[in-house]
Amino acid sequence: MDLFKNEGKIFVISGPSGSGKSTIANALLEEPDTVFSISMTTRKIREGEVDGVNYYFVTDEEYDRTVAEGGFLEHAEIYNHKYGTPKKPALENLKKGLNVILEIEMQGALQVKESYPDAVLIFVLPPSLKILRERIENRGTDSKEEIDKRMAATVKELDYLKDYDYYIVNDIKEVAVETVKNIMRIEKQKVKNLPANFIEEYIKE
Ligand code: ADP
Ligand code: 5GP
Repeated sequence: MDLFKNEGKIFVISGPSGSGKSTIANALLEEPDTVFSISMTTRKIREGEVDGVNYYFVTDEEYDRTVAEGGFLEHAEIYNHKYGTPKKPALENLKKGLNVILEIEMQGALQVKESYPDAVLIFVLPPSLKILRERIENRGTDSKEEIDKRMAATVKELDYLKDYDYYIVNDIKEVAVETVKNIMRIEKQKVKNLPANFIEEYIKE
C-alpha cells in the first residue's frame, strides 16, 4: 500500500572472498522492490562478465573524473584496482522507495554507514575457515598461492565484523538467503521508516 511507502533502504553485503556474497546478493533480487547497485571498476573484465550488468568497466581517467565530481557514494582501492558505487542511480532508486543492494568490501561499507547511518550492514561468514578454503578450491579459479593470500586476507577482514549490524553464516545457502530476506523485511518495519505525514494520511483513508 502506497500509504506505508517511504524512502528505500541501503543493504550492504560484505564478506571474505568465497564466503558466498554474490550467491546471496543475487538471490535477494527475488524480494519485491529490490535492485542491485552496479559498481564502476578499473579492473579488467573477466570471462562471462557483461559491461553494464556485473560492473561498469571504466578507464582510470573516467574513474578519477567521477571521484573529482563527487559521483561516488563510496569508493575504495582493492588489490590495485579501483571500485566505486555510482551515487546518482542509488539515490534515485532510494527516492523511488526501492531497496538498494551494495555488494562491496569493508572500507566502502564503513563510508556508506558514515554518510547513511540508516544503511544496514550485513557480514557473510563461511561456516569455518576450513570450509571457506574448500569452497575456493572447488570453485577452481585460484592457484594455491592465491588461495593462501585470500585466506590471510580473510583473517584481517574479520576485524571489520564489529562494525556490521548483522552476521550471516552461509552454511546452507537457502537458510542464509532466507535469513537475509528476513533482516530486510524487519528493517523495513521500523516505525521511523514511515513517511512524516503518515498519520495525517492514514486517518483520511
Ligand atoms: P563471493 O561472492 O563471496 O566471492 P561466491 O558467491 O562466488 O562468493 O561463492 C563462492 C563459492 O562457494 C561458489 O562456488 C559458490 O557456488 C559456493 N557457495 C556459495 N554458497 C554456498 C553454500 N551455502 N554451500 C556451498 N557452496 C556455496
Ligand atoms: P571482484 O573484482 O572480485 O569482482 O571484487 C573484489 C572486491 O571488490 C569484492 O570484495 C567486492 O565486494 C568489492 N567491490 C565490488 N564493487 C565495489 C564497490 O563499488 N565499492 C567497494 N568498496 N568495493 C567493491
